[in-house]
Amino acid sequence: MTNISSREQRSQIMRSVKSTNTSLELRLRKVLWQGGLRYRLYIDSLPGKPDITFKRRKLAVFVDSCFFHGCDIHLRRPKSNQDYWNAKIARNIQRDQAVNAQFRDMGWRVIRLWEHEIMADVEGCADRIQSTLLIGTQEK
Ligand SMILES: [Zn+2]
Repeated sequence: MTNISSREQRSQIMRSVKSTNTSLELRLRKVLWQGGLRYRLYIDSLPGKPDITFKRRKLAVFVDSCFFHGCDIHLRRPKSNQDYWNAKIARNIQRDQAVNAQFRDMGWRVIRLWEHEIMADVEGCADRIQSTLLIGTQEK
């Protein structure tokens, strides 16, 4: 009984996080596209398979779910299976840091956006990406 309800709760969380994340990514991508920025999605060969990639300008953008990546503001740890979730989220945070380091070593820049940042100000997030791309151009 406990197992069934916790499994249901877990898949419910997974579903809600996944769908929110996807629609937020779409919103961000739409604003970027309308701003004339061209990008690629989910390049397998790059560390962490970034959500949005500007390959020529060496910028990788990740949209991080507040839940799965452990946002300080919004992470509400589930009441059941706490060990499972704590371990999973800790692994994700570690992996994010490792991915950031790999990109740094490759001479790339990384922008990580929390889903709450996109929710609150998608234009501001797009501006941040755009100005980072511009800085990169000026350096050359
Ligand atoms: Zn958050």
